[in-house]
Amino acid sequence: MSKKLLLKDAHIEGIRYFETYRKQGGYTAAEKALKMTPDEILEEVKVSGLRGRGGAGFPTGMKWSFLAKPEGVPRHLVVNADESEPGTFKDRYLMEFLPHLLIEGMLISSYCLGSNTSYIYIRGEYSWIPDILEEAIEEAKAAGFLGKNILGTGFDLEIYVQRGGGAYICGEETALLESLEGKRGNPRLKPPFPAVKGLWERPTVVNNVESIAAIVPIIDITGAEYAKIGVGRSTGTKLISACGNINKPGVYEIDMTITVEEFIYSDEYCGGIKDGKRLKACIPGGSSVPIVPANLLLRTVNGEPRYMNYESLADGGFATGTMMGSGGFIVLDEDQCIVEHTMTLARFYNHESCGQCTPCREGTGWMYKILKKIEKGEGKMEDIDLLWDIQRKIEGNTICPLGDAAAWPVAAAIRHFRDEFEWHVKNPELSQTQNYGLAHY
Ligand code: SF4
Repeated sequence: MSKKLLLKDAHIEGIRYFETYRKQGGYTAAEKALKMTPDEILEEVKVSGLRGRGGAGFPTGMKWSFLAKPEGVPRHLVVNADESEPGTFKDRYLMEFLPHLLIEGMLISSYCLGSNTSYIYIRGEYSWIPDILEEAIEEAKAAGFLGKNILGTGFDLEIYVQRGGGAYICGEETALLESLEGKRGNPRLKPPFPAVKGLWERPTVVNNVESIAAIVPIIDITGAEYAKIGVGRSTGTKLISACGNINKPGVYEIDMTITVEEFIYSDEYCGGIKDGKRLKACIPGGSSVPIVPANLLLRTVNGEPRYMNYESLADGGFATGTMMGSGGFIVLDEDQCIVEHTMTLARFYNHESCGQCTPCREGTGWMYKILKKIEKGEGKMEDIDLLWDIQRKIEGNTICPLGDAAAWPVAAAIRHFRDEFEWHVKNPELSQTQNYGLAHY
């Protein structure tokens, strides 16, 4: 059984409210942190090995150490709660059921970073959650954990919740900052990075909800103890939102030492494939990461079991591996059509492109049109090569990572399931009535 750090109290009735959260030991990590110096907290975060839980996996302590500290210029912490990656819903769970864990994590992090005004930028579609967060903020303030001179330390902190307008691109940190400033959410060219010029050109750290929540157990048990959980550079615990053709969709906390096979088939987690069907493929880190077929998902190319951690999932690079990403674990059974699935994702990325750069703006729409043609049985063999060519020209040639996120699913689908694309071209009459399934693999 995986160790629980973030969700250990999630089952307790009323844990959403300050009184219950406090009774379970809530805000003791904040009390401890406020007696430490900001540098001591930063050291704990570095030692913990925590990697950003939003998708990129960049070391959080290192990110914090990049924050510029010019004299007299305010700094900000912005929590990225714009969780819009298809298949990813773990931050929603944290905010809905454990809002004080996030607030406590923000208090510790803001104190460490020197932010007296911090923000939660939340996905517009999570329409019921801002009220939960604002209620928790008021409760924390009434108890003296927010506001002026917190616990007599002289440290002040206000937290504001800003609702997004429902654009996926605002999950990209610079687009988020633009939106938070009241402008259209277009990604900025980097550099300058937000750590130097972020919100209103002030030094800003943007971190994912889960990353900030993880600061609480890090301070609670110490960075060194946190680093002992997990394996290698995949330290601590990770929330996984599991969905698709499984028996038990939901949010699970894992310690990154379990195998992918165990995660899919054990009753503790996904409980196996729905209706006793066979596993065809999986996207383990949200829709932007490469899809992998069952054989490469469960084992690495060397025949070793594949584990639910950053290194093992990526083993072999994109040719045979994938990524931990945001932890949005999407399982596809034998009946799923890879071409249709890829087309759906292409439509999504095309719809969400902000349109600033040509390869993304034009390429995503072009890929969607070709995929639609192939899926309807109207494609030609050359279309598959054209698709490959377009995704190659998008990857690495855009302002923000949405271009890569649109290219990778197409590349991985063709790389691993080219037969299925060809079957659609060769069998136009069957394309609409039948799926390629698993029969040919
Ligand atoms: Fe906009 Fe796409 Fe360019 Fe990102 S890659 S800036 S979403 S057009």
